[in-house]
Amino acid sequence: MNELISINPATLQEIGRVRVTSTGELDQAIRNADTAFATWKTDRSYRQGLLRACALEMMRKSAQIVPLLVTEQGKTATEASGEVWISAKAFAHASRIDWADEELGPDVAGRTARVQRLPLGVVAAIVPWNFPVFLTIAKIAPALAAGNTVVIKPAESVSLVVDKVVDILKAVLPEGVIQVVHGGPDIGKALVEHSLVRKVSFTGSTGVGKLIMKQAAEVITPVTLELGGNDPAIVLGDADLAYTAAYLANSAFFNAGQMCVAPKRAYVPADKMDEFCEIFSGLIAAMSVGDGLAPGTTMGPLHNKAQLDFVQSLLDKAVTSGATVVTGGGRGTELPGYFLEPTLVRDLDDSAELVALEQFGPVFPVVAYRDLDEVIATINAQEFGLGASVWGADEAAATAVAERIDAGSVWVNQHNALEVELPFGGVKSSGFGREGGAAGVEDFLQTRVISVKHTS
Ligand code: NAD
Repeated sequence: MNELISINPATLQEIGRVRVTSTGELDQAIRNADTAFATWKTDRSYRQGLLRACALEMMRKSAQIVPLLVTEQGKTATEASGEVWISAKAFAHASRIDWADEELGPDVAGRTARVQRLPLGVVAAIVPWNFPVFLTIAKIAPALAAGNTVVIKPAESVSLVVDKVVDILKAVLPEGVIQVVHGGPDIGKALVEHSLVRKVSFTGSTGVGKLIMKQAAEVITPVTLELGGNDPAIVLGDADLAYTAAYLANSAFFNAGQMCVAPKRAYVPADKMDEFCEIFSGLIAAMSVGDGLAPGTTMGPLHNKAQLDFVQSLLDKAVTSGATVVTGGGRGTELPGYFLEPTLVRDLDDSAELVALEQFGPVFPVVAYRDLDEVIATINAQEFGLGASVWGADEAAATAVAERIDAGSVWVNQHNALEVELPFGGVKSSGFGREGGAAGVEDFLQTRVISVKHTS
């Protein structure tokens, strides 16, 4: 039987299996979602009530989700609880979004035009492994609010926790409104190319995003792409280094660095480097690596071997080219899983892959700079544009720097300050389309004009 096996990344023990969805079952799931759409799209206030019920149900059943999220994904229990909480918040927020179903068009003699905002139909939600619960809900909450139905395809390695969440939500929602299918790229491709799918909402790597855009082009299906990022943090000369280092250390190693909007490199004035690195390394040396369910663990393992090998190879290449590991570099635990300690690296520049690529792991490079304009030009010339942050005591000056950065979100004196109430997404190779805020619902609506010429 064709199965997906879930492994605990901390212990390497199997925790369960799911059966891969057949193409016949995939077709049936999409047809069920299409059938459910006919009723689901009709009553917005009914939907809003059920979305509020979904928010409550997520919180009520949190204790069933959190341990599974930890053992299947690898994050800590605190991180997993936060993920469930923000997912519930996304449902609550989606239940409150308002928009005009219909507006009158321009006043033209002898003709009445109405501009309608309608749901699209069946939405395909394709989701990665780093935040399997939140990234699923971040799609289905606004898609359902707008009146669509959804077929979800989780990443292969986090099927159990997504199944658990979908089961919890299915108890609240009418039949067919959400479905889940399991499998790898083949099932993802078949979902994207299905003629009844009217929108693809994808979160994942830039490489797979390009493939999905090509697949969707074959059937002219619109896509939203939330892709990779290599967020820079620009520390200005007047920044409070203790505050900045503490905030960045917490953000960079959250979810073991496997977050699209984690700070993935810092640029620090050359004359502040020693002080910044000393504070930062003291903080990360105190972090405790281990099994996410063990009390006291502050950082779990990487999610899979490929990710660990990739991050390790970037670190090894940087060291071979002369970079210095200030703190970390070891495994940090005797457990057999995919562990790498929080690691700080300096004495490297933008030519190092560790700086130039999205490392997506717990290794943080810090680059010394002398010319701020050069730093900004370098950042803007690079392929990604998801998030960025600027740090400085003079808020107006830091904000002026933020306004020169080409990215979907630029934060001042904070990083990855995501709010479900704000639009989120990238520019350039980080993708297009927005989730969150009122703009998140816009991505799941289409416009129809009904124009009547009065002949009598
Ligand atoms: P991935 O791109 O490998 O996989 C994402 C999903 O796409 C999985 O469900 C996978 O099975 C599916 N898939 C793979 N090939 C496919 C194909 N040909 N057709 C259809 N579906 C296919 O991503 P990942 O490794 O799971 O996640 C890590 C990446 O996700 C990182 O680059 C990270 O930056 C990015 N990410 C982005 C955001 C954001 O909001 N911008 C959020 C989280 C993660």
